[in-house]
Amino acid sequence: SSRSTPMREFKKSSKLDNVLYDVRGPVVDEAARLEREGQHILKLNIGNPAPFGFRTPDEVIADMRMQLPECEGYSDSRGLFSARKAIMQYAQIKHIPNVDMDSIYTGNGVSELIQMCMQALLDTGDEILIPSPDYPLWTACATLAGGTPVHYLCDEQADWYPDIADMESKITPRTKALVIINPNNPTGAVYPREVLEEIVEVARKHQLMIFSDEIYDRLVMDDAEHISIASLAPDLFCVTFSGLSKSHMIAGYRVGWMIMSGEKRCARDFMLGINMLSNMRLCSNVPAQSIVQTALGGHQSVKGYVAPGGRVYEQREFVYNALKEIDGISVVKPKAAFYIFPKIDVKKFNITDDEQFALDLLHEKKILITRGQGFNWHKPDHFRIVYLPRIEVLAEAMESLQDFFAHYRQR
Ligand code: PLP
Repeated sequence: SSRSTPMREFKKSSKLDNVLYDVRGPVVDEAARLEREGQHILKLNIGNPAPFGFRTPDEVIADMRMQLPECEGYSDSRGLFSARKAIMQYAQIKHIPNVDMDSIYTGNGVSELIQMCMQALLDTGDEILIPSPDYPLWTACATLAGGTPVHYLCDEQADWYPDIADMESKITPRTKALVIINPNNPTGAVYPREVLEEIVEVARKHQLMIFSDEIYDRLVMDDAEHISIASLAPDLFCVTFSGLSKSHMIAGYRVGWMIMSGEKRCARDFMLGINMLSNMRLCSNVPAQSIVQTALGGHQSVKGYVAPGGRVYEQREFVYNALKEIDGISVVKPKAAFYIFPKIDVKKFNITDDEQFALDLLHEKKILITRGQGFNWHKPDHFRIVYLPRIEVLAEAMESLQDFFAHYRQR
């Protein structure tokens, strides 16, 4: 009888139907296929510092070696005391108000904590304001949790700061929270105090919870100063996210944290939800937590990367100056992180589909970038470059790009 029954097909759950996470998507798969054929691909698509020669600070490795024998067991589900103590001191330096040891959770990267927060907060139909462009995990997790991500625009004409009028126009009675990514991926923007104060004002007026993703807070360049929005909103409930993936170039260790601050009485039930989800995952990776104290305590080498003469700084200068010279491309200079988000003159190149553009660039020049719509941007007129590779590599890439745009027309 089993022979006559048609084979059962296992479909992915419908929860995933509207989830978009394109940073690793079809164009990346095509690049992997070309690599298997033996082709060399210039990868300007991943924000993972290690493959580009950014090494883990020695003291961090030494610390992990030393602690490893003591890290066999589960920790407290919120995280090791030593890690949370160090994060609490960090919160004090950032002037984040009303933080105690129970307000801090470590996670397997910020990624896990974003996922937990969306699951804990959103019911079907609940809305959450997320920037466009965004780091697409926010939108994906909100959707997966059953919520409705609503995108507010960031304004390229205004250094990519959030468009406050647009943000406010998108608030409805179902809006529960507001997300900012500061410093921003993919634009590299850092929000000044006045902009943050306007955002706080919107959240205050409409009683919204604030989520602030600040994973790039120590990779800030020029005269920009990073301010935690939570420091400006002691009367609101805020959750601030950061970690060691980018600042310490150890994305593979998976160390992130979140800090709940400000007015907590309104979020008691939400915090119970978070605690339950945290207990369900038992705890985050303990060897990774064991180095947080050392990493946050003394290591300053990341400052060297973003100061003039440092690799990240010089690579940004190079890419920005090269992109500016390409006919049909315009670009805002990023102030933080290691991303740049140029604009394409779509009329000039007849671009209507940015995935096709990314594929054409990949096939013709063997360069892999991420299309703008992968960041929930609404038009096919942007793409993201990661400028982590060394200048020699970037130079080759920029020359190829110039070449490509000199004749490209989408069919
Ligand atoms: N948030 C932003 C804005 C990011 O760009 C990234 C990674 O690229 C993450 C969060 C996730 O970081 P992790 O899970 O490594 O802490």
